[in-house]
Amino acid sequence: MKVLCILYDDPKEGMPKNSPLKNLPKLDKYPDGMTMPSPKGRDFIPGQLLGCVSGELGLRKFLEENGHEFIVTNSKDGEGCEADKHIVDADIVISQPFFPYYLTRQRIKIAKNLKMAITAGIGSDHVDLQAAIENNIDVVEVTFCNSRSVAEHIVMMILSMIRDYHNQHRIVNEGGWNIADAVKRSYDVEGMHIGTVAAGRIGLDALRKMKPFDVHLHYFDRHRLPKNVEKDLNLTFHESVESLVEICDVVTINCPLHPETENLFDEKLISKMKKGAYIVNTARGKICNREAVVEALKSGQLSGYAGDVWFPQPAPNDHIWRTMPNHGMTPHTSGTSLSAQARYADGVREILECFFEGSPIRNEYLIVQNGKLAGMGAHSYSKGSSTSGFEEAANYKK
Ligand code: NDP
Repeated sequence: MKVLCILYDDPKEGMPKNSPLKNLPKLDKYPDGMTMPSPKGRDFIPGQLLGCVSGELGLRKFLEENGHEFIVTNSKDGEGCEADKHIVDADIVISQPFFPYYLTRQRIKIAKNLKMAITAGIGSDHVDLQAAIENNIDVVEVTFCNSRSVAEHIVMMILSMIRDYHNQHRIVNEGGWNIADAVKRSYDVEGMHIGTVAAGRIGLDALRKMKPFDVHLHYFDRHRLPKNVEKDLNLTFHESVESLVEICDVVTINCPLHPETENLFDEKLISKMKKGAYIVNTARGKICNREAVVEALKSGQLSGYAGDVWFPQPAPNDHIWRTMPNHGMTPHTSGTSLSAQARYADGVREILECFFEGSPIRNEYLIVQNGKLAGMGAHSYSKGSSTSGFEEAANYKK
């Protein structure tokens, strides 16, 4: 079979010769008891850089020894890109949300052999799920592989924004010592109201991780958490996103992008937020309206916006979120720490092993199967597509 894999660029200075840490901590299980990805084999050392082109997700040996063709490329956008040349006869496509190959209806139409799209990570909104459903292409992702990595990033972003870390760090780098400048927007998190839109794997973990900071915790979700969890974390449940945003000083967004959540944080919803609140969005860029976020930061309706996610990706060099005031953006890195890469590389291999053997893929990994939403997809997504506007990714210049 032909496996097409789209990965992000190698480091500018080439692949690292050494890793900063010798070993990664060994994790046995996820907090809900789900087992870690468990492929039969592994051809990399956990902690190695795997998500870039030369890292190849550690899959080449396994695929080639089993007689498969393995194409890895970072050329994924614009007319004539490498990925488009290979999609026409690929059987399987692998892509990471950090550097997504947008599997649009047009691409699915020309991909005559395509059987499965694997998300090396979590969040399959870069695939036109409606077109995948109609064309009987299975979509799978490595559920839980980087959920806790993202929750750590959320805590980092909340603390660094509220305390205004970026500004203070910049002052030091520039040789300065103006303490008043450094603290004029700096607060304690203690006592604040922190709320998550969606309390799934990431949202709930972010709430758990914030609890020791002695804050008031809130959540909104389509399904309510068990009573004992609400009690342990002293959570306030909100029936609507509006009710949550009215009271919270910090809102963290942790729902998938699908037609129900696209553009959820538009001008209207942001105007209902507590004046001067902060948003942390590590879910997907398209959940927030690009212009509305910038306007709210300019007017002071928002005091800060830290996001790890953009639309499209890579974000064009002149994307207005790169230069808006009081932002703490990162280039979609929260779920691709070296620790997370080892888990999703293992997960992708587990999925491929199951697929080649004809054994079932874990239900938790399924988004679309046999022409319908399945597994996690049936629980967390709605039908449709959120890929429109993806062409702008070709405007990014290295
Ligand atoms: P989960 O599936 O565990 O959680 C998603 C939660 O979102 C579920 O509780 C679901 O509710 C809820 N939800 C879905 N639609 C809505 C809606 N319309 N309104 C409110 N809640 C909704 O996934 P994770 O927590 O692991 O990941 C969440 C998202 O985070 C991913 O889909 C992805 O987009 C993003 N992500 C980002 C990463 C990064 O690197 N920045 C890495 C990993 C994920 P219910 O199930 O109760 O219906």
